[in-house]
Amino acid sequence: METKIPVVILGATGSVGQKFVELLKDHPWFEIAALCASERSAGKPYKEAANWFQSSELPERIGRMIVQPCDASVVGRLAFSGLDAEVAGPIEQAYAKAGYTVVSNSKNHRHHPDVPLLVPEINASHLELIQGQQFGEGKIITNPNCSTIGLVMALKPLVDAFGVREVSVVTMQALSGGGYPGVSSLDIVDNAVPYIGGEEEKMEKEPLKIFGDLINGQVEPAVMNISATCNRVAVIDGHMECVSVRLGRSASAQQIIEAWEDYRAEPQEMGLPMAPEQPVHYHREDNYPQPRKHRMLDKGMAVSIGRLRPCSILDWKFTLLSHNTIRGAAGGAILNAELMAEMGLL
Ligand code: NAP
Repeated sequence: METKIPVVILGATGSVGQKFVELLKDHPWFEIAALCASERSAGKPYKEAANWFQSSELPERIGRMIVQPCDASVVGRLAFSGLDAEVAGPIEQAYAKAGYTVVSNSKNHRHHPDVPLLVPEINASHLELIQGQQFGEGKIITNPNCSTIGLVMALKPLVDAFGVREVSVVTMQALSGGGYPGVSSLDIVDNAVPYIGGEEEKMEKEPLKIFGDLINGQVEPAVMNISATCNRVAVIDGHMECVSVRLGRSASAQQIIEAWEDYRAEPQEMGLPMAPEQPVHYHREDNYPQPRKHRMLDKGMAVSIGRLRPCSILDWKFTLLSHNTIRGAAGGAILNAELMAEMGLL
């Protein structure tokens, strides 16, 4: 790409917003043009408004940028949103009305019938939905919830090869998934919390749209029974999930592992900058995957799986891990935008 596309980050000061800044600061196709957040942050230099808690250094030139309000006053084409769901709905619509393509991490538009709930390795064809959008000149595209993404990436090769009828999933979710500053230290140190508001409902509903068939310009939801239990644990980044599945037809462990390891899709074929080379990795060690060891695999964009074994209630069970603010949020959204750029949709 000869000229970089200028991008606006909405909610730039938060957990996901900071990850956008980190992943976009040297991106080959996109260039950060504006950092936007609430009135509390607007008018301040970014390094004062955001409590930068990423492990990489904040580049000086970005730290000096003055945070803007989310008022769609800057003229541009592409906005990445890491906005609090309390405010994301109207702000994202205002940006779309002003002509932006908004690539969002928030839940607000995920189930709108004309908005793709996009995972480029799974349902790139759902981008056709944007033709029916009536938000104005611009478009809205969404990412799934951060724990949904690991689950659907692990299920997709099994859906294609054997079919998946039933899923039981129990998560152990990282602290950064709750935003900044998130759960207080006194609530989570030496502890685990067996409740994350709204999370189980999202995990049970979102995969049905993602795996749905596009029929006459609408997504017909997939038929799959999913039961989810979600827990918060004292890990900074990386959601782990213990999954049991009932398949549509029988498969051996070897066939399942091959389906995971061989899986490739449009982002890999197109060589998109943010795409993992191998979307799903299977680890043969008994005690893998682990957040500290595997969350950054393939730029933090790959899903790690291990411990495949027979399930005495359903057919097979395994453990997966994915990085919640990279694959599950900012990195996934950037991959969505790269796919759209490559398809000529930006
Ligand atoms: P967060 O750390 O709480 O950040 C929220 C951002 O929204 C901040 O930049 C905040 O700006 C901004 N904001 C709040 N009120 C605003 C207002 N009235 N006007 C404009 N901006 C406002 O949350 P997060 O974890 O980054 O999550 C952001 C979104 O992504 C949420 O919808 C969340 O559900 C979703 N998500 C999060 C993850 C994850 O792993 N964290 C993964 C997937 C999806 P100020 O700093 O100025 O208040």
